[in-house]
Amino acid sequence: MVQSLEGALALILQQATPLAPEVVGLEHLVGRVAAESISAPWDMPRWDNSEMDGFAVRAADCQSLSQLRVDGFIPAGSSAAGMRVNPGTAVRIMTGAPVPSGCDAIVPLEDTTHDEDVIRLKKQVQPGDYIRFCGSDIAAGEVMIPAGTVLRPAEINLLAALSCVKMKVHRLPQVAILSTGDELVHPGEMAGPGQISDSNAYSLAAAVRELGAEPLLLGIARDEHTSLKEKIAAGLNADVLISSAGVSTGDRDLVREILEEAGVKELFWKVNIKPGGPTAFGLKEAKLIFSLPGNPVSSMIAFDQLVRPALLKMLGHEKIIRASVSARLKSPLVNETKKLRFIRVRAEATPAGFVAESAGDQNTGVLKTMIQANAIAVLTPECSALAVGEQVWVQLLNPEEFSTIQFHDCQGPGE
Ligand code: AMP
Ligand code: MG
Repeated sequence: MVQSLEGALALILQQATPLAPEVVGLEHLVGRVAAESISAPWDMPRWDNSEMDGFAVRAADCQSLSQLRVDGFIPAGSSAAGMRVNPGTAVRIMTGAPVPSGCDAIVPLEDTTHDEDVIRLKKQVQPGDYIRFCGSDIAAGEVMIPAGTVLRPAEINLLAALSCVKMKVHRLPQVAILSTGDELVHPGEMAGPGQISDSNAYSLAAAVRELGAEPLLLGIARDEHTSLKEKIAAGLNADVLISSAGVSTGDRDLVREILEEAGVKELFWKVNIKPGGPTAFGLKEAKLIFSLPGNPVSSMIAFDQLVRPALLKMLGHEKIIRASVSARLKSPLVNETKKLRFIRVRAEATPAGFVAESAGDQNTGVLKTMIQANAIAVLTPECSALAVGEQVWVQLLNPEEFSTIQFHDCQGPGE
């Protein structure tokens, strides 16, 4: 049965589950997805400390006295044990150093005139000034990194601050990639008459790596039983096997047959999309097997729409579907199929919102438009055409491409 995109995704995502946790060291955690929650084992900061280089004082003294005698120094990294701010005195202190007893405010260096022994204040001082109080940032026990968090440099900083040198994150799926076809040679090899470079393996591996998963190139299987059988057997050792080509109805399209012989249970073949329609999906135990069509554009779009969400889910991500934005068309788009049509477009962010135009020839054999496109417009099977000026949903392939530096001035955006 031909699946709708939603039906195909539902079948795939039922099978794709976050992989079991593994323990990973601090240096390798960025981009990984937390498989445990981390709460603060202690208050942050751990003790009251100075926010500035300056002087630890008693605020009340500062109201009544015109100058304070400097009595002691607490550099960063030292203990304040035994140190005390006595009435009428100030203790010199560095940023981050623990505040001594008796102190209820810090006066920054620049708010004083001072010499070795005496300071004079240039400003009013209130109790609490420039003290970072114990637990004011994070309280002991507070859950700071819930399971499912994608770890960014900020989370890494927190883990290190909490002296946490490793944590549990979801294991990375290993993704075997297999190219099939008698016409294929490895890139870099001389292509004889009728031969082409195996380019799909490399775009698929790149797409897998971009998500943070681990590609494993199996090489090229020829369009015959022994070769396919051998490569597929090797691929079934990985968490996911992605093949390209040999999955349509041609004479030598043997991939599905060999998968079946290898014990793969096919859950669907054919999705009502273009490009990417002849995709098959199957299972062997917990292993997911995607058989993508051979045209480079078809294999890339099928990966993006069907495989990418599965890999993201296995990696532990919760946000697994590309964000769509509504764009106003600058050129007409046609859907000559009765399928969900992915059209390569060029999108642009303007002050009035996104605009998009066709990137050119939409034939699945045309790679150039895939290179020129930065977004994919999605037309439903019922929508045969859209005119200039109409709105269309587009998936942005690289949202940061549209970034500009924006500041909030007093007018606010759009005023
Ligand atoms: P097929 O699905 O086997 O009929 O292949 C469809 C088209 O994709 C043919 O023109 C193939 O030559 C091409 N093709 C198949 N595999 C690859 C590959 N790995 N790299 C580039 N093109 C391919
Ligand atoms: Mg072929």
